[in-house]
Amino acid sequence: MDLGNQRASGNVEDRRGMGMVGGGLGIGGIAVAVVAYFLGFDPGTALQIGQQVSTGTQQQRSVPSGSKRGTPEDQMGQFVARVLGSTEDVWSKLLNGYRAPTLVLYDRQTPSACGMGQSAMGPFYCPNDEKLYVDLSFYRDLQNRFHAPGDFAQAYVIAHEVGHHVQKLTGTFRRMQAASPADRNRVSVRMELQADCYAGVWGHHAGAMKQLSPGDVEEALKAATAIGDDRLQQQTQGRVVPESFTHGTSAQRVHWFTVGMQSGRPQDCDTFSAAKL
Ligand SMILES: [Zn+2]
Repeated sequence: MDLGNQRASGNVEDRRGMGMVGGGLGIGGIAVAVVAYFLGFDPGTALQIGQQVSTGTQQQRSVPSGSKRGTPEDQMGQFVARVLGSTEDVWSKLLNGYRAPTLVLYDRQTPSACGMGQSAMGPFYCPNDEKLYVDLSFYRDLQNRFHAPGDFAQAYVIAHEVGHHVQKLTGTFRRMQAASPADRNRVSVRMELQADCYAGVWGHHAGAMKQLSPGDVEEALKAATAIGDDRLQQQTQGRVVPESFTHGTSAQRVHWFTVGMQSGRPQDCDTFSAAKL
């Protein structure tokens, strides 16, 4: 990527190096309830969030003292802040009255208004406090475990979570709340593929702003392929169970990212009306 001229966002909350934040909250008793993992994990937890979306009662308690708000100064923090700034510039043009989310950088675990965030969950978005939670160790996983290196692959992760934030703003999250238990995985897949498509929409406009380098799109496609439910299930459990998919197959994730990337129009990301994913 070439983010040299990109304004860095100030909407970053840096909680790195704060130790085991919230360790005294009785973690054992707190259900980790987070929607919209970047990776396919337990769909049951995704649903809990769906139900909690409108309450937001934990908001005040979820910002630990000592977290720094602004733009981090280290190289990785700068990169993340510029990518976030780029998504802000793009989405405020595409969506009337766009309200930018906050990106929280943390180590290991941190409280959120959706429960305790842990690095093992991968990056996630919490609609209750409108924050993206990213433990940068995931970027190492992306490179080592998923063999999807590169800065655009890293940016795609952020753009995908921002896609969930767009879903919060446009009311799409309500579909998760309204879904019957039997329908939840199916709705989750459409939510996730739409977030992939929104990430592509951002990529399209980042390209128009000359922020992409040769090979960037291939990086994102490689990442999308690496984190498809079929691929992950095959790797982790040796077999593929389509009914348990929550994020879509590798081919579907690649397809929807590409749809957004080519058109740059959020309205082309209507995975809910699509007859075929
Ligand atoms: Zn997601």
